[in-house]
Amino acid sequence: MILLNPGPVTLTPRVRQALNCDDMCHREPEFAALTLDVLRALEAVYDGGGEYAAVMLSGSGTCAVEAMLSTFASKTAPTLVVCNGVYGERMAAMLARQDKPAASLKLGWTDAIDVTLVEKNLDANPDTANVAVVHNETTTGRLNDLGALAALCEKRRVGLLIDAVSSFGGEALPLAVWKPLAVAGTANKCLHGAPGVSFVLARRDALDSGASHSTTLYLDLSTYYREQLKGWSPFTQAVHVVSALRAALNEFKDEGGWAARNRLYTQRSTRVRRVLADAGIETMIPAAVCSSMLTAFTLPQDADYVALHDSLKDQGFVIYAGQGALAGRVFRIATMGDIGDADLDRLADALKAFFTRAHA
Ligand SMILES: *Cc1c(COP(=O)(O)O)cnc(C)c1O
Repeated sequence: MILLNPGPVTLTPRVRQALNCDDMCHREPEFAALTLDVLRALEAVYDGGGEYAAVMLSGSGTCAVEAMLSTFASKTAPTLVVCNGVYGERMAAMLARQDKPAASLKLGWTDAIDVTLVEKNLDANPDTANVAVVHNETTTGRLNDLGALAALCEKRRVGLLIDAVSSFGGEALPLAVWKPLAVAGTANKCLHGAPGVSFVLARRDALDSGASHSTTLYLDLSTYYREQLKGWSPFTQAVHVVSALRAALNEFKDEGGWAARNRLYTQRSTRVRRVLADAGIETMIPAAVCSSMLTAFTLPQDADYVALHDSLKDQGFVIYAGQGALAGRVFRIATMGDIGDADLDRLADALKAFFTRAHA
């Protein structure tokens, strides 16, 4: 089965093999060494990572995002969440559950981020401590352009918290330029690891200060950071999944890092977009603003999502539905993971055949 959903991804043989590692106790030196390997490799993914420390957690991407907000979103000064999709809105929901002061700048799901609106909001709420935003908004596949937002945050001395769960390892993330306070990512999207481990890259000075706004014991990054300085973890980790993540990070480095992966995803996505354009299917937002790895396509009136999904699944491909109000109106195709040229050929044929039948 080839997974074309935006995570988890189809594993390569090398990563799958690493899942079958020796059993390890998470409180033994061999696991500490493995942890340190993974943390250093995560910090090396992007230039400027030296100012940042990686903290690893067992849990999906949502776990990393929630731990980031738990640790860094202030209990007293508001966090402004910029929302143009499901994942921005999920961060706002997390802050509400954490009972932390927050405001949402709710944009339409197809809207780009308007920095002048963010600036107006900061003017009106000068005590805002942090801005939280999604990098690749998986709802629509829009890669939010964060340069101007990051510059605004720096000018206002406001911390920038980024959900980069679906972009980390596959898109440019210029840490030295954007200077975010923290970035959340996961093993099983652009890094091609197995699901079950996620991480936050946070400014070392912020972690070293020991300050935490955590409202829970488990999702407090300062606890993990202190112990992981020497590779230890406060709680049981998903040891086999961490082993797979190390293999995935080695493979990632061998293949040329994020830039090479970005080129590969772009090639694959461009091909899928071309095949669908020939069948009369349009991207939901312009391809120029889509991320390299994910595209949402508008489903034509004469085609049914379930029929499309099931027909592709019969041929060995899993695609993804639209979320919320987009359910039944769009379908999404991601191009991460172990996908070969022959798989893409078969996918192209399967898509062509389906839409030819649908239009007939
Ligand atoms: C996938 C994703 C998440 C959540 O990941 P889970 O692993 O499903 O918890 C969060 N944010 C974005 C932008 C995502 O794409």
